[in-house]
Amino acid sequence: MGISFRCRIRQNMDNEGGGWQAPVNAKNGVDGMVEEFVGKNSVWETTKVDPAVRRKLQLIKDLQGAQKRGEMHIAYQPKINPYKQQIVGMEALVRWEHPVYGRISPDEFIPFAERTGTIIPLGSWVIRMACLQLKKWHSAGHSQLHMAINLSAYQLQVEGFVENVSQILQELELSANFLQFEVTESADIYYNQIGIKRLHELKRLGIQIYMDDFGIGYSALSCLQRMPVDGIKIDRALTKQLGKDSVYQMMKAMIQLAQGLRLKVVVEGVDSDEKMSILKKWHVHEVQGFLFSQPFPPDELTQLLDQIGGDEG
Ligand code: C2E
Ligand code: MG
Ligand code: MG
Repeated sequence: MGISFRCRIRQNMDNEGGGWQAPVNAKNGVDGMVEEFVGKNSVWETTKVDPAVRRKLQLIKDLQGAQKRGEMHIAYQPKINPYKQQIVGMEALVRWEHPVYGRISPDEFIPFAERTGTIIPLGSWVIRMACLQLKKWHSAGHSQLHMAINLSAYQLQVEGFVENVSQILQELELSANFLQFEVTESADIYYNQIGIKRLHELKRLGIQIYMDDFGIGYSALSCLQRMPVDGIKIDRALTKQLGKDSVYQMMKAMIQLAQGLRLKVVVEGVDSDEKMSILKKWHVHEVQGFLFSQPFPPDELTQLLDQIGGDEG
């Protein structure tokens, strides 16, 4: 599916985003995307269309309002201090339970949400819910836990984004130091002055910025210098192949480089004790992966935190 992720964003008065003006992808939107697949004025719902294409079209259409219909949930995956073997934070990962197609991976629907503008209200809902959950965990005694939230580059284009994040933190009396935003090293942020400016503003509030999915895609090492990041998160696709000598050497060099730039290194996709030992030897800051825990609904993690305890400082 050849989707271009370029989108021109304009502001409108849609307030669905919980208080800020949601930009809408005017050119593409839902209709634009549907048109791209099956042509203008198509009646794809009633005519013969390839089932895979029909599914995509249905998802694009149903994504609008899915959160309001209660189909979106947030799972949380623990982030671990590998030396103390303690939970130090959580990453919020959105889940969509489609009434017909069942669970849809965010890898599949986030690109649609970005393309249609739905990412703006959805992303703001994720931020609010994740901050609320963090507040609950803090109040329950896990007061040093931090929350990592994935941010789409498009969210950074919204006028008032930083102010609204700040307002949520104030409302909940949460310190910005407990919040991390994970952004991907896409060209959109790299070359977009507004995105970079907003990242600086978020950092000034005290929020930490991590570059997610590091090591795949663009991987422009020079962007580490240009972007205001506190750390990198090495992608699970690399960790998966850590047993291969070439990948081992590459990851080792990446980690050394990041540490040389005084950046924190988080490694995701850690699924074995062998990998954990290697990463400890390389002094990585935090790890995440199925070895320790999959993403779970918050209640299950509350039980885990109560049983084994988080990092209480
Ligand atoms: P990500 O931020 O890189 O998140 C890590 C993904 O790796 C998650 O997939 C997680 O379930 C998976 N994972 C964690 N540990 C392991 C492991 O040991 N082995 C394997 N095989 N996988 C592991 P998930 O939840 O399907 O999310 C996929 C991507 O969707 C995320 O990648 C993130 O880029 C995006 N995403 C999720 N939630 C949001 C959101 O609220 N907003 C935005 N903009 N993107 C989101
Ligand atoms: Mg992430
Ligand atoms: Mg990642």
